[in-house]
Amino acid sequence: MRLNRDRVIIIGGGIQGCAAAYFLARRGQDVTLIEKDHIARHASGVNAGGVRRLGRDLVEIPLSLASMDIWQSLESDIGVHADAFHPCFYVKVALDEAGQKLGLDRIDSLRKAGFQHECWLDDADIRKRLPHLSCRTRGGILVEGDGWAVPWRIVQGFAAAAARHGASLIEGCRVLNLEFDKECWQVTTSQGLFEAGQVVNCAGAWAADLARQAGEPVMPLSAHAPMLAVTERRRPILPAVMGVLGHTLSLKQLDTGQFVIGGGVRARADMQANRGEVAIPELAASMRLATTLFADIASAPIIRCWSGIEGYMPDNLPVIGRGSKPGLVHGFGFSAHGFQLGPGVGEALADLVMGQQPRISLEPFRPDRFEADT
Ligand SMILES: Cc1cc2nc3c(=O)[nH]c(=O)nc-3n(C[C@H](O)[C@H](O)[C@H](O)COP(=O)(O)OP(=O)(O)OC[C@H]3O[C@@H](n4cnc5c(N)ncnc54)[C@H](O)[C@@H]3O)c2cc1C
Repeated sequence: MRLNRDRVIIIGGGIQGCAAAYFLARRGQDVTLIEKDHIARHASGVNAGGVRRLGRDLVEIPLSLASMDIWQSLESDIGVHADAFHPCFYVKVALDEAGQKLGLDRIDSLRKAGFQHECWLDDADIRKRLPHLSCRTRGGILVEGDGWAVPWRIVQGFAAAAARHGASLIEGCRVLNLEFDKECWQVTTSQGLFEAGQVVNCAGAWAADLARQAGEPVMPLSAHAPMLAVTERRRPILPAVMGVLGHTLSLKQLDTGQFVIGGGVRARADMQANRGEVAIPELAASMRLATTLFADIASAPIIRCWSGIEGYMPDNLPVIGRGSKPGLVHGFGFSAHGFQLGPGVGEALADLVMGQQPRISLEPFRPDRFEADT
């Protein structure tokens, strides 16, 4: 048994857990991160790497903007692996009248809420930026400076930076039970019992089970497996990350020339077996849309498809905030768009653990917001 009431235990070695470990360790906290598999094994390591402010729910934008500040200072924060972030521009085009209306309404509501980071471009401007497009558009929304990153490298970067600041990272160790006993948390794991003053639940799609063990009200978290496909190499034709208004597509071309195709399409997640399925027919719809945008993609064979297990909340907003038990903080339920938020969430979780005011309001992400419904 290892006893330590000053210790902060973080459960989960995804981007949220590793970023939180980094910000806490950098501020001199005694941090132990516990991961049942290995760092970046699940959603955080296998995602599409989209670093996007574009299209965020209005209440999520302040967190996304705060996170982007950290993405822009990755070199001074994590150093090694900071080059895994490739800023470019991110564009969502309209292919029909309905898409155009969605986009124009979106810009209107953003302006009313005081946000300027997304702007509307007409078809001619989009064609100047994307000369290899194979179809006409009805305009689209663009954000300058969003981009993509190699996800597992970014997570490893935060984990390594946390370790450099003194955090202990324990892999292959499953948290089996969480119990608050008088003044501290008893964390039972496959490698023995740990004691901690504070626990941060960053267990991704598995987080509701841990919350339940900790005596929290039921969290309506569901698990699914968003999917991606990657093609053979082709000449460089796509200098942006792309989507289509009204559709879930995400499309990018890597430095290797390969296209990564995905978006919101998802298959079944098997939580016990620790694996996600791949449902080719659903993924095929995204592939077809990609070939509408760029005919070149039609000749690029798919060489691999995969999925990752992700936790979803009913309102597609994460759970970030203090739990109902002393010293318990939650950060999970990122509903397929938590990679870009990770650095900002890590900083906010560190603030909560240290009793400080996060730089943005976490009110929309309150853990108890569904209590009346459950
Ligand atoms: C295919 C795909 C594409 C995506 N594309 C994007 C994108 O382009 N942009 C974007 O912003 N987001 C994207 N996302 C979403 C993003 O990846 C997630 O929102 C984010 O990675 C969630 O991070 P996390 O740290 O909460 O969870 P995870 O990365 O799942 O980490 C949670 C960790 O907790 C560990 N754990 C769970 N239970 C226990 C336990 N009992 N004991 C110890 N450890 C435990 C797990 O093993 C896991 O490693 C995508 C997701 C997928 C799957």
